[in-house]
Amino acid sequence: MNLKFKNWWDKASPEEVERHQSKLLQKLITTRVAPFSKYYREMFEREGIDPASIQSTDDLVRLPFTFKRDLGETKDFVIVPEKEVLQRQSGTFLKMLRHGPRGVKKVLEDELRPIFMTSTTGRSSAPVPFLYTQQDIAILEESGRRLMEMCGATPDFKIVNAFPFAPHLAFWQAHYAGTGDNKFTLSTGGGKVMGTSGNVEVIAKIQPDAIIAMPTFLYHLLQKAAEGKQRWPNLKRLVLGGEKVPEGMRRKLRTFCAELGADKVDILSTYAFTEAKMAWAECAAAEGEESAGFHLYPDLSIIEVVDPNTGERVPDGHPGEIVYTPLQSRGSIVLRYRTGDLIEGGIVRDLCPICGRTCPRLVGKISRVSDIHRLNIGKLKGTLVDFNQLENLLDDTEGLGAWQLELRKENDDPLDLDEIIIHAVPMDCKQATLAENIRQKLKNATELSPNDIRFYDWKTMRKMQGVGKELKEKKVIDNRPK
Ligand SMILES: [Zn+2]
Repeated sequence: MNLKFKNWWDKASPEEVERHQSKLLQKLITTRVAPFSKYYREMFEREGIDPASIQSTDDLVRLPFTFKRDLGETKDFVIVPEKEVLQRQSGTFLKMLRHGPRGVKKVLEDELRPIFMTSTTGRSSAPVPFLYTQQDIAILEESGRRLMEMCGATPDFKIVNAFPFAPHLAFWQAHYAGTGDNKFTLSTGGGKVMGTSGNVEVIAKIQPDAIIAMPTFLYHLLQKAAEGKQRWPNLKRLVLGGEKVPEGMRRKLRTFCAELGADKVDILSTYAFTEAKMAWAECAAAEGEESAGFHLYPDLSIIEVVDPNTGERVPDGHPGEIVYTPLQSRGSIVLRYRTGDLIEGGIVRDLCPICGRTCPRLVGKISRVSDIHRLNIGKLKGTLVDFNQLENLLDDTEGLGAWQLELRKENDDPLDLDEIIIHAVPMDCKQATLAENIRQKLKNATELSPNDIRFYDWKTMRKMQGVGKELKEKKVIDNRPK
């Protein structure tokens, strides 16, 4: 692979980052996106924008956003080179001088030929496939290597990847983190392939230093292992992905680890989406220490934070929607992609207080705009409800292990009143106390009161949420007759 990664990503000052990014952006747009992406070639024409006039990260704001709904014809987003145009480019000529006529063919194929694909999970909309070339795989390995670095992984680290086998970024990012960082990795396929007990057995044999998994499954796994009086004293890191990780969940995971004989375990969560083709991680924060946010890779992508209503960039440290533009990707590419994810503390560019890296960070909780839109509910029981807020609220409720929120209509009559039922698993907490906690929290923040709170054990809840079957847990269910 011809691509070399820069070592400035976590050392450069904001001004240096800006300069490097502007150069990379200019090159990407003029030599690859504008000539070879059908969607963006048409966009530049339609908008009357000269691609060469996009010279800096500030010029990016002149490009229209790309929304999820624009991804209908996903093949239009793939970089498909035209031979004649490619041959005329000065970059191709330079490559020819460096690698010779046969070498240049291989270099260009590695850069441009799609060989791999991941897909969105498509819970309620059609799956969106995203293509990778060798260059994208190299980037995936590099973001995986950085994830390991952030994890403080030493050369002898052994890793268990317990994400479900799927054409899904989470699984493949974990896999390529192992190959990219040259670490022993076993992918178990999660609960579906060898069952929870199979996972417990193989982990007992391998005694990994780190486990990468979805939080709900990992919780289940550690619980089973603790019940079975397993000893996993070598375990040092839990790396979580695929869903949000409430503070209560982190506490409980640490407790299980202590029962397993692993008393110093750092917990890192990651942030990713299919269209980014990479994942970002927190640096390891000690117990009780607040997370310093997701560390971004400024040589690989530009992240903007914008006001979700006006689309204007917000100042650093302000909440807004995460917008993504790659800098070195090939295959499928989206520019100024509106993720639909809201970041509570915005983007910051000062030194990380924990690790001292200078890369930009996304701080605070992330909630999905898209979940509300998908459910298409704003009004519940006559009150306007912010479902993101509701979700964060329940995630943070003391003593609430897992939950599912069900919306119904009284008597199953479409015209009757809305009903809210909260299905809950208590965690170190009496049912009555938990019910009171939930009612109080909801009342204080939203003025909503649930019609019923029902209690379950973990096993039943996992079934209800589709753990092991679905790639994302079903946490909000709309059972109102249409
Ligand atoms: Zn840090």
